[in-house]
Amino acid sequence: MKRFRPHLRHLRDVKWHFIGALFCAAVYGISSGFGVPYMMNFIFPKVFAENAAELSRMQILGYALWLPAIFLVRGLSGYLNHYLINFCGFRVLEGVRSDYFAKLQRLPLAFFHKHATGDLISRGLADTNQLQMTLTNSANEAFKQPIIFMGAIAALIYLSFQNQNVVFMLLCVISIPLAVLPIRIVGQNLLRRARQVQSSMGSVTERLSENLGALKEVRAFGLEKREEDRFRDTIRSLFHVQLKVVKYAAALSPTIEFLAAFGVSAAFVYAYHVRLPWEVFFAMCGALYFSYDPIKKVGFVSNELKKGAAALDRLEVILNEPESIADAPDATDAGRLRGDIEFRGVTFAYDEEPVLHNASIAIPAGTVCALVGPSGAGKSTFANLVPRFYDATGGAVLIDGRDVRSLTVQSLRRNIALVSQDPVLFNDTIRNNIRLGRPDATDAEVEQASINAFVHDFARAQPQGYETIVGERGTLLSGGQKQRLALARAFLRNAPILILDEATSALDTESERMVQEALRKLMHGRTVLIIAHRFSTIRDAGMILVFDHGRIIGSGSHEEVYATSPLYHRLYDQQQIG
Ligand code: ATP
Repeated sequence: MKRFRPHLRHLRDVKWHFIGALFCAAVYGISSGFGVPYMMNFIFPKVFAENAAELSRMQILGYALWLPAIFLVRGLSGYLNHYLINFCGFRVLEGVRSDYFAKLQRLPLAFFHKHATGDLISRGLADTNQLQMTLTNSANEAFKQPIIFMGAIAALIYLSFQNQNVVFMLLCVISIPLAVLPIRIVGQNLLRRARQVQSSMGSVTERLSENLGALKEVRAFGLEKREEDRFRDTIRSLFHVQLKVVKYAAALSPTIEFLAAFGVSAAFVYAYHVRLPWEVFFAMCGALYFSYDPIKKVGFVSNELKKGAAALDRLEVILNEPESIADAPDATDAGRLRGDIEFRGVTFAYDEEPVLHNASIAIPAGTVCALVGPSGAGKSTFANLVPRFYDATGGAVLIDGRDVRSLTVQSLRRNIALVSQDPVLFNDTIRNNIRLGRPDATDAEVEQASINAFVHDFARAQPQGYETIVGERGTLLSGGQKQRLALARAFLRNAPILILDEATSALDTESERMVQEALRKLMHGRTVLIIAHRFSTIRDAGMILVFDHGRIIGSGSHEEVYATSPLYHRLYDQQQIG
């Protein structure tokens, strides 16, 4: 239980609900464990006594109402307990999921290269769900069942002393610890199986998300059958491990009941020998039942804890992951930067092998700098170090003479606008998609940015104008419209540094002209790092960096590098630039 403690803090907001739930649990426990056997012992002798015929109608009715009265209290408290504990449970779930999601926002990009999206989704849904069930059910049952148990034992003691049958009571009580044995045996096996279930669940989500992310490819390459087979294999493995959990978990209840039956039959034999009145015998059997039942439930709690521990293991892998790209303790706000970029002896490796070697270069503010080189030469890696998507393994990246690691991440990134090849749009309105560039921008500023990026006309032509929803990942827009929308975002951001991954896919002439025109305006007066694929862009760049195998092998204007760098010369002549 100790491991779960940090997550119980989510119960703080709902402490009154939780206390209410526990109070109801106590009422439920006492009315079950003590109330029912006591009631049996109290009423039966009266109703079945030899002089019962003398009882008035009202008396009979009064006795008869005891049963519904006790069950009403038991039922109501059970109902409220269930409702309130679930209320708290869903709050805990909300808290744990929010923590998990917030953590995902802070983790460095490198983390996501190691974890499949589907698996991360599964951890955020299935594992958090399991954790919530464990936390609330276990906390509730761990409180409720001992009360029922103690109530039942109290009833046993009371009835035994009342009838001077201590031996009977001892007989019952001694057999109780026997029932704990199966819980231990099952628990040991369950943890491992539960871990397998959670991890298999991750694989199923992984398959699903991979497939949904490659709809076109699956159809284009005719992979439907292969995908179906792969999915079936994955859910079949889940089926096997789930069944193993059921095999162990389901064995618990019958084993305990079987042992309890022995207890009852021993009591039966004893009752026969001492000629115990049958109403006392029934009341004691009731108490005995209510003392075994909690043990059974504690068995479930133990199972639940094992499943929860497995889910927690998987969540903690993420929650405890170091946030390597975080603010240094003495980090300062960047303010508005000018945009002088300097790489000072920068080396970078994703894994072991460096992909950027000792890069040293200064890019003055306001320069349009084209990054050129064969595929895999290190251009994107170079650009990604500026907004600290990754941190340099060696050397330093400086902006305006300040090491990027000495600035707060947020303030650094506020100074950078990023336009990627395939811009990501959210399933929201055109206006809100542009506003992502600067969430506090006014409507007029959004419209000005969209005029600059040639979005205004097509936005107004949509049925709902700027309020038109663009579809998931912008599927309702054309390639050129998506690019212009991304440029509008960058206009709105109005950052001194612009990182641009130029699209390779060709657009129709009109669309291309608009994109180029918008780009030219956008680049004006900013420091631009552009992973360039077009001649026009490269020729217009004030500075060209030529990359090869992770090294900068040439820098300068087009004329300079054309004259000095054979690789650039060759790439340019072959028109294979980026
Ligand atoms: P392209 O023009 O094809 O995009 P690039 O010049 O931008 O190529 P980078 O993407 O910077 O090249 O990649 C440089 C090297 O780093 C390549 O060898 C690539 O395989 C490797 N690399 C890129 N991303 C990762 C990653 N997340 N994990 C490990 N290695 C990576």
